[in-house]
Amino acid sequence: MNDYDVIVAGLGAMGSLTLRQLARRGQKVLGFDRFAPPHTMGSSHGHSRIIREAYFEDPRYVPLVQHAYKGWAELEAETGMTLFRQTGGLMLGPPDGMLVRGARLSAELHDLPHEVLDAPDVARRFPAFHPEPEHVGVWEPRAGILPPEAAIAAALGSAKAHGATVHTGETLVAWDASAHGVEVITTEGRYRAASLVIAIGAWTRDLMTELKLPLVVQRNVQFWFSPARAPEQFTPEAFPIFIGEYAPGKVWYGFPDTGDGLKIALHHHGELVNPDTVRREVGDDEVTPVRAIMTRNMPDANGPLRASAVCLYTNAPDEHFLIGRHPAHPTVIVASPCSGHGFKFASAIGEILADLATEREPAFDLSLFALDRFTR
Ligand SMILES: Cc1cc2nc3c(=O)[nH]c(=O)nc-3n(C[C@H](O)[C@H](O)[C@H](O)COP(=O)(O)OP(=O)(O)OC[C@H]3O[C@@H](n4cnc5c(N)ncnc54)[C@H](O)[C@@H]3O)c2cc1C
Repeated sequence: MNDYDVIVAGLGAMGSLTLRQLARRGQKVLGFDRFAPPHTMGSSHGHSRIIREAYFEDPRYVPLVQHAYKGWAELEAETGMTLFRQTGGLMLGPPDGMLVRGARLSAELHDLPHEVLDAPDVARRFPAFHPEPEHVGVWEPRAGILPPEAAIAAALGSAKAHGATVHTGETLVAWDASAHGVEVITTEGRYRAASLVIAIGAWTRDLMTELKLPLVVQRNVQFWFSPARAPEQFTPEAFPIFIGEYAPGKVWYGFPDTGDGLKIALHHHGELVNPDTVRREVGDDEVTPVRAIMTRNMPDANGPLRASAVCLYTNAPDEHFLIGRHPAHPTVIVASPCSGHGFKFASAIGEILADLATEREPAFDLSLFALDRFTR
C-alpha cells in the first residue's frame, strides 16, 4: 500500500512547479526539501531570471520556452501574483559570434518577432550601451524578467492549496524501486509511492552515482550596482535584459534596476565546487573582471557595488538539460535542467515531470535531454 501517488524530492524551481502540477491533477503528493524553499543555498535565488525566446543555445528550446510563457501566465492567473515583467531583450555581440548567430537562427527558424540593430542603432535606442563598432544587437520584444523566489513561493502555495503535503528540512538519503513502487528513505523517515521525482539541483550527481552523470557544480556570483551616472538609462522602461558576447564565446548579462540596483553577472564564470562546502562570501577582487567589461561596454553602470550573492550552476558538458526516467527504474524520474539557463522553463518542465511520473507521454521531444546520452 503506497503512502503517496508521487513523491517529489527537492522543491526548488523544478520540484516546486512539478509538485503543483501533480497536486492540480488530483495526485496524492508529498514534496520535501533539505532546506526551506525559496532559499539561497541552491540555484534559484537573486530576485531575477531572464526569460527569452530567440534561444541562442539551440532553436529546439523555442517551443519549450513558448509553452513555459503560458505556464507562467497560468500560475499568475491562479495566484493573482505578477511574476513576468516584459522588458524586451538585447543579444549583443559580433555578427558571426555564437550569441548573435544563434539568436538570429532561432528567431528566423521560428518566425519570432525580432530586429537586428547595428551598433549606432543600439546606442541610439539604449544609450546605456556603448557597443563595439562592429557589434550588432538582436532585439526581441517578448523577453523579460521572472522572480525566482516569488515564483517558487507561488508554486508551493498553489501545490498546498491543491492538497500537496510539503516538508522542509528533510533530505533524500536513498531510494529503492521495485515493480510495486518506490521506497523513499529520508533523514526523517520512510515513505512508499508509485513514483519518485528527483529534482535536487546541484546535489544530483552525488546522490545518483550509478548514472555516472558528468555534472559539475560551478560557483557563480551575481552583482548589484548603483549606476554611476544617468540612472534613468537603467530603469525597466529604458533598459532591457541583455546578454553580451564580450570576447569569443564569453558572455555577460544583466537586468535593469528594478529597485535594488542593476544586476550584472558573468555566465559560466567561477570555480568548480562542492555544494556542501562552497564559499558563500564574495571577495572584493571578484568584481574586478565585471568592472573591466562595464568600463568598456556600459560605463555609466559602473557605480558603487550594492550587493553580491553566490549561486550554483550545475553544468552538463554540452550545456543541455538532464530530464528523463531513470534508465533502470522507470518509476524514478530525474531532472537537472540547469547549465545556467533552466529557470525560465520551470513552468513547462513541471508539466513534463508530472507527465513522466504518471505515465503520460510528454508533449515535447526529450531526446536532447536524455540522461544516458553521455554513457551510451
Ligand atoms: C546566478 C544564476 C543565474 C541564472 N540566470 C538564469 C536566467 O537568467 N534564466 C534562466 O532561465 N536560468 C538561469 N539560471 C539557471 C536556473 O536558475 C536554474 O536552471 C534553476 O534554478 C535550477 O532549478 P533546480 O530546481 O534544478 O535547482 P534548485 O532550485 O537549486 O532546487 C534544488 C532543490 O533541491 C534541494 N535538495 C538538494 N538535495 C536534496 C536532497 N538530498 N533531499 C531533498 N532536497 C534536496 C535543494 O535544497 C534545492 O531547494 C541561473 C542560475 C544561477 C545560479
